Amino acid sequence: MARREWVSRLAAVLLLSVLGLVGWTTYSKRAPDRCFACNRPIHANSRTTAAVNGHKRFFCCPACALSQHEQGGQAVTITQLTSFDTGKPIAPGRAYLVRGSDVNLCEMKKELVDSSKHPADLLYDRCAPSLIAFDDRDRAMRFATEHGGGVEPFSEAAAAFTR
Ligand SMILES: [Zn+2]
Repeated sequence: MARREWVSRLAAVLLLSVLGLVGWTTYSKRAPDRCFACNRPIHANSRTTAAVNGHKRFFCCPACALSQHEQGGQAVTITQLTSFDTGKPIAPGRAYLVRGSDVNLCEMKKELVDSSKHPADLLYDRCAPSLIAFDDRDRAMRFATEHGGGVEPFSEAAAAFTR
C-alpha cells in the first residue's frame, strides 16, 4: 500500500510540474508582439524600441515610433532599431534609414480598418511612407536601388518628424 501511495504522489508531483511548465511557457510567450502605438503586429525585422515618458515601449517600425512623437506630444526617444536584412539590433546613431521604398511591413490591409473609425484615419497611415533600417549605408543604398526611396542617417530621418 505504501508503495502505491508513493507512486501516486510522484504522479501528482509530475503532473503539477508539467502544468507549471505549460503555464510558464504560455506566460513567457506574452512578450509584446503588438505595436504600442498602432497595435499592429510587430515584425521581427522592423521592431523599434523607444522610451516613452521613461517607459520602454515597442513599436512596429521607426515611422510609427517617430509619428508617436509628432502626434502625442510625448517625449519619445528611440533607443534601438532592427536591421531589415539581418534582424540584428542597431543603435540609432549607427542606423541608416530608407524612406519611402516600396516595402512597408506595416502596410494596412483594408479588412483591418475598423468600420467605426473616422474616414480621416483611412487616409492617414502613421507607418507610411515606410522607414526601413539598416546598420550599413552600402546595404541601405543597395536596398534603395532595388526598392526605391532615399537613404538618410537616422538622425536626419528623425529630425524630419519634428519639423
Ligand atoms: Zn505601429
